[in-house]
Formats: sequence, structure tokens, C-alpha cells
Amino acid sequence: MKFHVLTLFPEMIMQGLGTSIIGRAASAGTISLDAVNIRDYSMDKHKKVDDYTYGGGAGMLMQAQPVFDAWKAVCKGQKVRCVYLTPQGTPFTQQIAQDLAKEEELIFLCGHYEGIDERVLEEIVTDYVSIGDYVLTGGELPAMVMIDAISRLVPGVLNNESSAETESFQGNLLEYPQYSRPEVWHDKQVPEVLLSGDHNKIRQWRLEQSVERTKQRRPDLFQRYERNLKCIEQLKKDKLSHIEMIEVIRRGKARLIYFKKDGVLLQDIESGYFMATATNEQGAEQIVNSLKEEMSDAAKAPSYIVAHQDFLKELIAFEFDYDVLMECKQAVYTRKEVLPIKKVVADKYQFRNLTLEELPIVSEIYSYGDEESMKERIQKKALFGLYQEDSLCGFIGIHPDGSLGMLEVMPEYRRNGIGSLLECYLINYALKQGWTPFGQVDVTNLASWKLQEKLGLCLSKNSLWWLEKKSSK
Ligand code: SAM
Repeated sequence: MKFHVLTLFPEMIMQGLGTSIIGRAASAGTISLDAVNIRDYSMDKHKKVDDYTYGGGAGMLMQAQPVFDAWKAVCKGQKVRCVYLTPQGTPFTQQIAQDLAKEEELIFLCGHYEGIDERVLEEIVTDYVSIGDYVLTGGELPAMVMIDAISRLVPGVLNNESSAETESFQGNLLEYPQYSRPEVWHDKQVPEVLLSGDHNKIRQWRLEQSVERTKQRRPDLFQRYERNLKCIEQLKKDKLSHIEMIEVIRRGKARLIYFKKDGVLLQDIESGYFMATATNEQGAEQIVNSLKEEMSDAAKAPSYIVAHQDFLKELIAFEFDYDVLMECKQAVYTRKEVLPIKKVVADKYQFRNLTLEELPIVSEIYSYGDEESMKERIQKKALFGLYQEDSLCGFIGIHPDGSLGMLEVMPEYRRNGIGSLLECYLINYALKQGWTPFGQVDVTNLASWKLQEKLGLCLSKNSLWWLEKKSSK
């Protein structure tokens, strides 16, 4: 992830973000940070960047020209999202951090004095973000706040990869209380359950604490949490068919757009995909109306929409610029135990994340994905290869929506049990994250059907349909 900050005070950014976790990530090259001095782009002989506001009023305003030229020098004709930090923007949340963390490059524009000439903002800004309802003297602190929150979500920045997923806000719940040594401090004992070594009990206790804490401190978040729970209950009436929607909610990545008895429409924040299910045609109509609102700005239309009923899929394909791509069934691993992988087999092969060096070969062999999307998966460390010595025997991955898939075995290694080994590995990996492992199988892919059954996955009775945006082909 590359961060560019357009500012009048570059040293403030570099000093503020140069230490601790973010500083280390920048030194290690996991993220890159460059602060661009807007003043360097001033055409004024005294390097002036501000002037009085037309119409009068207190204070000075940053002029358009130096800001525009600094921006142009940074984005070099590429389309890069440009965030203007302003008290007039959308309040910054974990959800926005997650959305921005998907980008490869971001520009932050920091205002000063009374702000920036409106005309340049109109031309270059894609997102207006505020860090709270108060006014600061400049955009540097807000930019640093945002860069810190976004960086933590970039794979490799935190040592403990899963910690970003368990923290406050990730699933609309605040984090539970935590304790470290000593066991007794000021006569206060660490809760006994935490010393029990029983991980199920500890997980349960932490959830209860999180729920209680959220209820007391953030009733607004608690309301959302309760609504999500109710939605999961409704979707669970056909759990296998709706597993991808349930998982998106459980993993704290769902934006619930429509939820009534007659249907559910949500957006997976990570992939941007819409997922919809309806119990009748009235529900389908409601979902289509919500989708119309969501996609009134064409730029907000995601590459894919998932529909759970035949009539819903027809209606969406009729109303929007989407084609039906494929019909799938869900394959769900419903047990909690990890799948056994024999030690002799494990010793013979090694699993590791795929690298960009392997991109040409994997995108050639995987017929469902284009090179751009495979690249994104490799960069997100969501594609895993199985190697014998140094040769790649096959690979498998996690799709942006969290389903397992992209399984391919290299022709010379086929019929060796490598497909099932790869799937076992990924199922175990998913269990370790606390997920319910699931994949979606194209109804025409009989080989995959057989493999899922052999590994003991449960197949859904009902189908779901993937709709693809016409222009994204
Ligand atoms: N006149 C501006 C207004 O009322 O919207 C406020 C200007 S403020 C004094 C100067 C700069 O600080 C802004 O251009 C913005 O970049 C930054 N700033 C101030 N408060 C902020 C906040 N709550 N969130 C994000 N940026 C903020």
C-alpha cells in the first residue's frame, strides 16, 4: 500500500508516522509513505500558497494551483483515490478504513488555514472524510489517524494477523476487557476463566463481555449488532444455502441494506459484492428498489451480485446491466475438527503463499479469473501454493467474499490427491480463523462436486446465481 500525503508540513507526517508499528512497516517496505510539500509546487516567487477569500471573511485560503500541481505530480495520470480531510466529510469509521485498505495507492490532501479553494477540490477529490465533529488547525493529524487505521489492515503490518479482525468495531462489538501479569494487582484478581486454559469457555466469556460492554458504552453499535443477529437467525432457516451471507455478517464485513421477513440485501464491505435473498416476489421488488438506490451512481456498481432465487436473479438481470455468470451450490464444512493431514504427506510437500512471480502461470491455468483479480488475491496473501521441492504442484485460495476456491492442480501432478490436500489445508486454515469454511461449486463442475463430498462437506439443496457486471468482462 502506497500513501501519498499532500501537505504544507511534510515533516509533521514523517515524524508522526515514523515510529512504532507504522514506522517499522514503512522501513520494511510493507507500506510506503511519502509526504509531498505543496509549497514546492507554488509558482509564486516567494513560494506563497494562500490568499484572501473572495467575498471577504476571516483567514486565508489555500490556492488551487499549487494543490493541483502537487496532486498531478503524485498521481501521474493514474486513477488514484484522493481523500480530502475536512470537518465537512463523512465521519471516519472502521468500515471506511476497510474500504480504503483495498486500494493499492491513496492520496491524502491536508488543508490548512480556512481550507482549500473549492474549484480544485471539485477536480481532484474522490472522498471527503472527517475524523470527528470538531475543528482542527490542519489536516495532518486526521491524515495520520487514517493512515494508522488503514495500515493496520494491510497484511504483514501487524505481527499477529488475526488481531485486526478481533478488535473493537470489526463486528459491531467493542473488544472485551484484557489483563496481563500480575494475576493480582491492587487486590484485584484476573477473571478465573482466563486462567482455565479452556479455549471454548474463554471465547464464550469474551463474547459475553463484549456484548455487555457494547450495550453499556455504545447502544448505537449494540442495536446494529442485535439487528445482525436477527438477520443471521432468519438466514439460518436455510443455513447451507445462505452460508456466504451468514459468514459475511459473522466476520463483521456486512453492510445490511435491506432486512425484512421477505428478504435480505447486504453488501460485503471487503469485496463490494451485493448478496440478496428473497422469500417472494414482493421481497425481490424491494431488493431491486434498494439496489437502484445503491447503484444510482454507476461507479458504485460492484463487479458481482449474488442472487439466491431464480426469480430474483431474473429480475436483477432485467433491471441492471448484469449477466448471469453461473449457477452454483454451496459446499459447507459444518464440523469444527481440523482435517487430518498425514505427517509423511505433509513432509513431502510444502505450503506457502503464492508470489507475484507465479502470477503468469496461475492466471493462465485458472480459467475463471483474470490476471488483475489473481494479482489482487496474491497481494492480499489469499492464494496458497503446494510445492514439491521448488515446483508448484497446485494452488487454492480465498475469494474476496471469503469463500474458498480457485483450486487448480498442475497437469503433471493430477490424480495424486493434491486437490484434496490443498482443500484440507485451506479448510484447516479457515477453521483457525474461527470461520465456517465454505466454497461455491459450479453446478457443471462434477469433479469438484465429488471432491467436496469425499471431504465430508455438506452441499446445499438450493442454488445461487452469480451475476457479473457487463462492462467488467
Ligand atoms: N473552514 C473549514 C470548515 O469550516 O470546514 C475548516 C478549516 S480547518 C481550520 C483547516 C483544515 O484542517 C481543513 O482544511 C482540514 O483539512 C483540516 N481539518 C480540521 N478539522 C478536521 C476534522 N475534524 N477532520 C478532518 N480534517 C479536519
